[in-house]
Amino acid sequence: MKKNDYSVVEIIDINQDGEGIGKVDGYTLFIKDTVVGDVAEIKVIKAKKSYGYGRLVKLIKPSEKRVAPRCPVARQCGGCQLQAYEYQEQLRLKEAMVRNNLDRIGKLSEYSCEPIIGMDNPWRYRNKAQFPIGRDKSGNLIAGFYAGRTHSVISCDDCVLGVEENKEILSIVMDYMREYYVEPYCEESHSGLVRHVLIRKGYHTGHLMVCIVINGRQLPHGQILAERLAVVNGMKSITISPNQERTNVILGKEIISLWGDTTIEDRIGDVWFEISPLSFFQVNPVQTEKLYAKVLEYAELTGHEVVWDLYCGIGTISLFLAKKAGKVYGVEIVPAAIDNARQNALKNEVDNAEFFVGKAEEVFPEWCKKNKTHSGDEVAVQVDVIVVDPPRKGCEEGLLQTMVEMQPERIVYVSCDSATLARDLKKLEEMGYRAEKVQMVDMFPQTRHVETVVLIQRKDT
Ligand code: SAH
Repeated sequence: MKKNDYSVVEIIDINQDGEGIGKVDGYTLFIKDTVVGDVAEIKVIKAKKSYGYGRLVKLIKPSEKRVAPRCPVARQCGGCQLQAYEYQEQLRLKEAMVRNNLDRIGKLSEYSCEPIIGMDNPWRYRNKAQFPIGRDKSGNLIAGFYAGRTHSVISCDDCVLGVEENKEILSIVMDYMREYYVEPYCEESHSGLVRHVLIRKGYHTGHLMVCIVINGRQLPHGQILAERLAVVNGMKSITISPNQERTNVILGKEIISLWGDTTIEDRIGDVWFEISPLSFFQVNPVQTEKLYAKVLEYAELTGHEVVWDLYCGIGTISLFLAKKAGKVYGVEIVPAAIDNARQNALKNEVDNAEFFVGKAEEVFPEWCKKNKTHSGDEVAVQVDVIVVDPPRKGCEEGLLQTMVEMQPERIVYVSCDSATLARDLKKLEEMGYRAEKVQMVDMFPQTRHVETVVLIQRKDT
């Protein structure tokens, strides 16, 4: 097959990106927007030697698995790769994908795997949304998202993964902009004022936060906008964030108050967090609680253990575990996240958690070396449990080696990429550890993403 060829294919499988897989005379094609079981006319948009990418031109026979996406712009947005699958089918697909990686890449066989934890209501679960503001082709003011790899905003003021209040808030902001002739930002010309509207909602508290990101330092008639937003039920924080850079980074570095507080509160389990527009915070609070409960269960803490939480972010897992452990150490590369972690420890009166800024693969080995006083071959510093929650690329080999050298009873691995997870599990198995239990949690329904927690035990225990 070559570029611009047309063909009719049956979709026989799905890849990790949520794209359908079809074959033409043994040549593999990945086709966005198709569902397993579809027969589709496609056009080749990129052809490599042994595989290529196609675009869906026409559905000739839709799959029986197909459902109508709830979102009218699901295809243009691309954020919900699985919206055309019914939810139970999405869960089955995710489970099969993770198991396939564990078996094929990890060569694991003896682990037990409980059914994936899905959501009762797999919609409107996101507690955070960031809408770019722009104009459509006719010049109308719109809020929505950037169409893939472009500067043009596609109108969508009610993402079906976001909270109901988003729509009301966006309409207040856009009415105000029309009334006072406040221009939306244009990426191409780097002109105009309003870039993004960030909205967050505390799941347990119902607190709402709005942050207007502007290409300037002042919002004309900002107080009028603030007064109008302040009446939305739950509103606690209205701020602006100046961002005058030509950049894809959404927020600026500074947060200026327009009305109310500059932060809102929410909790995960019984740990409270103070969240600013700049803080990282898990976006699906319902599933995060289930995920962390699993981590806690697998960690089997009795109150005395020394625990390391590598890649700790704002310390959410660390603080969750601290109440049941002797001591928790967290390591994270982003300094601002560690500031948050320390503040959150204070807020929750957790005094047995200590946080370090740096690379996990440097800080942890250095600490071990420094604190290891050899008496014969005895290791004086005990590490009982290690939790790792790395980004998609997984753990560096050196870090896995240090983890094993410290001989913890258990390692709890939280992963957002089951391919690198499987790779790391295979290495740990070769170094004397065994993956015993696997639990998938669907943190991002409608999308291709899935989180996996694994309990890894030392083999001689
Ligand atoms: N456990 C946290 C977040 C994990 S996300 C939670 O549940 O909220 C992964 C984190 O790893 C991110 O915060 C990222 O900044 C951090 N990170 C990335 N590379 C790192 C490295 N080499 N060492 C330490 N942290 C790293």
